[in-house]
Amino acid sequence: MKIPGTTSIEVNYNADYDVPEIIETYFQCGQCLDEMPPGEVPRTWARLNVGIDVIGNIQVFCVRHNINVVLLTLQAAETRH
Ligand SMILES: [Zn+2]
Repeated sequence: MKIPGTTSIEVNYNADYDVPEIIETYFQCGQCLDEMPPGEVPRTWARLNVGIDVIGNIQVFCVRHNINVVLLTLQAAETRH
């Protein structure tokens, strides 16, 4: 894919089920954490969608509150040949 001012960027995806979890820090909706009932844990209380746009930006979006949790944007450096 082409981002203005850059030569190209390659985004690779691996959807294999056997890829182990490598997550060290989870994204959470702050409003959901504020409203979490006693006895709940963030892992089961969260209602998050994770997706990607046409240029590879990744967004975590809270379904419960209909708000952005985090947007991870691509940052490509211009390359010279
Ligand atoms: Zn939320």
